[in-house]
Amino acid sequence: MKKIAVLGATGSIGRQTLEVVDLLRDEIEVYALSAHSNVELLLEQVKTYQPQVLALSDPAGLPKLKTALSNWSGRILSGKKGLVEMVTDSEVDVVVSAAVGVAGLLPTHAALKAGKQVALANKETLVAGGHLIMDEVRRHDQTLLPVDSEHSAVFQALLGQDLLGLDKIILTASGGPFRQASLEQMEAALPQDALAHPTWAMGGKITIDSATMMNKGLEVIEAHWLFGLDYDRIEVLLHPQSVVHSLIELIDGSVLAQLGPADMRLPIQFALTYPRRKKNPFSRLDLAAVGELNFCRPDYSRFPCLKLAYEAGKIGGSMPVAMNAANEEAVRFFLQERIGFMDIPRIVEMVMGEHDKNGVAANPSLESIVFVDGWARSVAEEGLKKV
Ligand code: NAD
Ligand code: MG
Repeated sequence: MKKIAVLGATGSIGRQTLEVVDLLRDEIEVYALSAHSNVELLLEQVKTYQPQVLALSDPAGLPKLKTALSNWSGRILSGKKGLVEMVTDSEVDVVVSAAVGVAGLLPTHAALKAGKQVALANKETLVAGGHLIMDEVRRHDQTLLPVDSEHSAVFQALLGQDLLGLDKIILTASGGPFRQASLEQMEAALPQDALAHPTWAMGGKITIDSATMMNKGLEVIEAHWLFGLDYDRIEVLLHPQSVVHSLIELIDGSVLAQLGPADMRLPIQFALTYPRRKKNPFSRLDLAAVGELNFCRPDYSRFPCLKLAYEAGKIGGSMPVAMNAANEEAVRFFLQERIGFMDIPRIVEMVMGEHDKNGVAANPSLESIVFVDGWARSVAEEGLKKV
């Protein structure tokens, strides 16, 4: 039995991970779960999965959790340290990293450092600390298992390939709810418009990132670290049906893709059963019912976040840290209706400009990432007055 710890168990990926575990109960045991503030759902998960360790990253909910579990024999941890302690517990074999935002970096890094197998959904971890994460992966001779559907597709297409034969990676993007919207419509968009994703049901932050296409930008940086390719060998294609999850092009011109229904349980399951496959009852792709598959190039003028992410990735060092933090703050401001939708890229661009002036750090340490992240958030807050 493999014992898993799920970071962000109450989120969209966390809940789907537990659904997959339901089908793998003969091989996987739920050992530890973390949540940020959703104590109710965490309590339900405790009843169903009987984990031995819990971590609540926002300690505000701790009294409620402890009261409800006063007769429970497991361990309850809290705060950022609690997440690290949970994933580095000597009993844990596999960590599913599914918290949202850069908050996932410290525990994910700690898990890899402790030699754990990691299934990674939390892309912000690679955006902010890709060099540190990949150092640990190499040091422990691990395979970092991608959960993000595009990266799982590339990972699957690459199986059995000689990396010397790889020319480029093509990440597909649905284009989100504003794929065909005008710039005027996007300037006026409200949170409920941006949250209406046409093909995927996901957490709030990534849904807004999909609408700005920052999600694809974060994924380009994620792919750079996971597969070790320069940015000019990572392309993005719009593909509204979300059936072709990504492609690789080989040096002889052959193109390989992974296709499937838009169901995150597939890449989650493959990350948990890798390198094996296991039959499941999930719905199957019916290509005849889909009928058409369309592809076109993204439009940077309506989706400047994608361009900003490429720029941040190419600059490297601490620039993606600043970009990611600015984006996390701008998405929060937008959801609070304090800024317009197109102010998200404006704030990101402004913070990146300030960071460029102040000097970008090469190969930032964890401490310096935490510092730049906090600095960028305060600059983004100031930016509220300017947009
Ligand atoms: P979500 O908002 O549904 O869930 C987030 C989880 O993280 C929750 O369990 C929450 O309690 C926890 N969390 C929130 N703030 C936290 C903090 N400060 N510290 C620790 N934990 C915290 O998000 P999601 O859609 O499940 O996405 C999780 C991650 O997976 C993101 O990085 C996202 O980009 C990535 N991802 C999601 C999908 C998807 O389909 N949802 C697909 C690919 C990648
Ligand atoms: Mg994705």
